[in-house]
Amino acid sequence: MRISEKHYGKTAVLKIIYALFLTFLLVFAAKTAVYSLEPNEMGEIMIVMYHGLRPYPPKENYLCSISDFKSDMQMLYDNGYRLISLADLLDNNIKVEKGCTPIVLTFDDGYSTAFSLEEKNGKLVTAADCCVDIINKFNETHPGFGRAGVFYICDYQGQEPFYGAGTMKQRLTALVEMGYELGNHTGSHSYLNKLNKESIMKDMTDVEKLVADSLPGYKMRSAAYPYGSVPNKSYQDVMLKGKFGEIEYEYDVAFREKMVGGSTLPYSVEHNKLFAPRVRGSNNAVWDLGWYVRHYDKNPDERFVSDGEPDVITVPARYAQKLDVWKCLNKTLKIVE
Ligand SMILES: [Zn+2]
Repeated sequence: MRISEKHYGKTAVLKIIYALFLTFLLVFAAKTAVYSLEPNEMGEIMIVMYHGLRPYPPKENYLCSISDFKSDMQMLYDNGYRLISLADLLDNNIKVEKGCTPIVLTFDDGYSTAFSLEEKNGKLVTAADCCVDIINKFNETHPGFGRAGVFYICDYQGQEPFYGAGTMKQRLTALVEMGYELGNHTGSHSYLNKLNKESIMKDMTDVEKLVADSLPGYKMRSAAYPYGSVPNKSYQDVMLKGKFGEIEYEYDVAFREKMVGGSTLPYSVEHNKLFAPRVRGSNNAVWDLGWYVRHYDKNPDERFVSDGEPDVITVPARYAQKLDVWKCLNKTLKIVE
């Protein structure tokens, strides 16, 4: 009796070891699958739109909970996505590991839960569990994930952007010193289809002024449409270039919500810098972040896959017709079969 009990015990242990071995193989296979994708630097790069966080599960698509945001970072990392700055995307300066897909995170409306400062032992530090804190900590434990994101500033919430400890200058300085970027979301966060050209330019320069007061010489490079609402057709380009009073502005790109309808790659002929697409940072609906991660998993040919060489743009021959070669003269082009 004792002998057979021991015998069964050993079999059970062997089964467990075998099961663990299989699990390891599956996990390993899943991880290496991402890195073994062939380079395709004409594939899509997602720009993700977040707002702020809630400590409890949200009921809508524009705010997520702290735990949702943390699991998004894990989901992106596990699926081979790596954070890059918008400046690096605009300058064709993509430095992520070979086989990985770059992604740009954006945060609208200046929520304190996206970024704010708090006082700790007499020092100003990033507030615990805001998006910036979560990204910074995740990057420490997942080297290579990256620390980047664009914060679109406005005066939407009836209080200053990133409300919390410190002055506006201290907040914006801390954010930029950590490697994050600022963008223009218009001062009043109005429906732009209801405003005339002058009012929109005033709205844009209000944010320019706010940023210049804190960070003289800082150059914002992008804008985001409030509510996704666009100005009248005859002056739509006011989102990218304009002047009010003595203040002038000029940006490389303006983002609208929705993924379809154009590439985010500046050297793609499909790139429309006035209406570049952004996906919502939600897993709820079709065309949200979660939907796209699953979509690219099933259709890996559509996603941007890095060749690991920032100075080379590797393009499969079947996508070569999408290249705007004049926009990549500072790089070596490599067309592959
Ligand atoms: Zn907004």
